Amino acid sequence: MASEGNKVLAAGLEFDERRAPLIGVMGGMFDPVHNGHIAAALAALKALALDELRLIPCHLPNHRGPASASAQERLTMLRLAAAVDARLRVDDRECLRPGVSFTVDTLESLRAEHERAVLVLIMGADAFAGLTSWHRWQELFGLANLLVVSRPGVLDAVPAALQAEVKQRQVSSGELLCARTQGSVLFLQELQWAISSTQVREELRRHTGAAALLPPAVANYIRTHGLYAQDCWKDFES
Ligand code: ATP
Ligand code: MG
Repeated sequence: MASEGNKVLAAGLEFDERRAPLIGVMGGMFDPVHNGHIAAALAALKALALDELRLIPCHLPNHRGPASASAQERLTMLRLAAAVDARLRVDDRECLRPGVSFTVDTLESLRAEHERAVLVLIMGADAFAGLTSWHRWQELFGLANLLVVSRPGVLDAVPAALQAEVKQRQVSSGELLCARTQGSVLFLQELQWAISSTQVREELRRHTGAAALLPPAVANYIRTHGLYAQDCWKDFES
């Protein structure tokens, strides 16, 4: 009996001492997902040693027009791209939620599911520069840490209100970022992928080589389903 009790106690201690799961969250239109998104996601996995990274496509954006591809098509392309690493998971909660997709709602639902987790919201420098226009933006820091990934050609100045908010929160390493479950900010400067979905969509329309910007399975899917331009499949011929 005593040894059974010890086992239970040991199991209990093991459970209590287990470290909190590290979960990355990357939102966006992903219209379509491209090599720059995947490079940023893989860099975040590596820099923070994340257990998993959720790729969460936006259903109805607040600040721009609707996506060209349907939510279902964008989810499928993301699943194809995510196959590169088992820690990348596609999460469809924004596509299933009616109304405008607000990141604060997404983080609240993730936090409710993962109370103990270290949550890290990952975004490019362009998205960060516009953060003060996001719905309830200051509350994001109470729900997750923030990892800002560099992106070439981003010249947008960071507003004073955002600078002030980040000043007290900024840390200098992935380890320090993940030491808290939310509220810290880290800038990852090493990434320089000059790719955007806008560029991919334009190149698909102009037949100027978008395949080089996309994971091969995503390029094939676009070709097979004739997305973004009636005859965009010509891009991938020969
Ligand atoms: P679009 O041109 O349609 O705006 P995009 O390439 O900017 O597309 P989004 O879906 O808007 O892609 O971006 C989703 C997230 O991924 C954002 O946080 C964005 O900053 C980030 N991101 C996209 N491309 C890159 C890149 N090349 N390097 C770093 N971060 C990126
Ligand atoms: Mg964008």
